[in-house]
Amino acid sequence: MDRSALMAVKYSIQYGHAILYDQYTKVQWSKYVWERCNIPKHRYIIWLTLHQKLRTRGYLSKHCQVLDTVCLLCGDHNEEISHLFFQCTYSKNCLVKLKEWIGCQAQTENYHTLLHWISKAKHLSKLRRGFYIAAVSALVYHIWRVRNDVLWSSKIWHVNHTIEVIKRELKLRLTVSMYKGKQNRDKEWFHKL
Ligand SMILES: [Zn+2]
Repeated sequence: MDRSALMAVKYSIQYGHAILYDQYTKVQWSKYVWERCNIPKHRYIIWLTLHQKLRTRGYLSKHCQVLDTVCLLCGDHNEEISHLFFQCTYSKNCLVKLKEWIGCQAQTENYHTLLHWISKAKHLSKLRRGFYIAAVSALVYHIWRVRNDVLWSSKIWHVNHTIEVIKRELKLRLTVSMYKGKQNRDKEWFHKL
């Protein structure tokens, strides 16, 4: 907010809090998008998701006429961001497998809460925290890709296949650019992945 806009309104504690909270939220979002472990091609989908701009059927129905808003993955609920990540049966199953693989103990199925949990998990090293964020980002990207395959090709990838693709991408990412000079406990964890 610029100075003239700030001077134009009467200050109150509530107003000050609203400004600070808004800034805090923006910082959090950018941190998740620009996390250096993230695979670059995943960042745009993450950005759209965090800003509630991903073109789900629920989103499109608010901006233009969409006859069918049912989730393409489960056929059982409206296709909204909150449903796709990760209340939908398909994405929920993917999340369970991904958390198992990386050893994440967060209980939530909410995308924002999960990222917040990761960013606050003090027992994680910086590398692992970044890797967890990159793993969630990869999952969001690939669930959206699977959803688009259903839309355009009428085929749905098995959960195991989706997770295997994510594993390959993330291991390559970690090997290529993140691995050098890391602590031994991180190296041991990486070799077990
Ligand atoms: Zn669904």
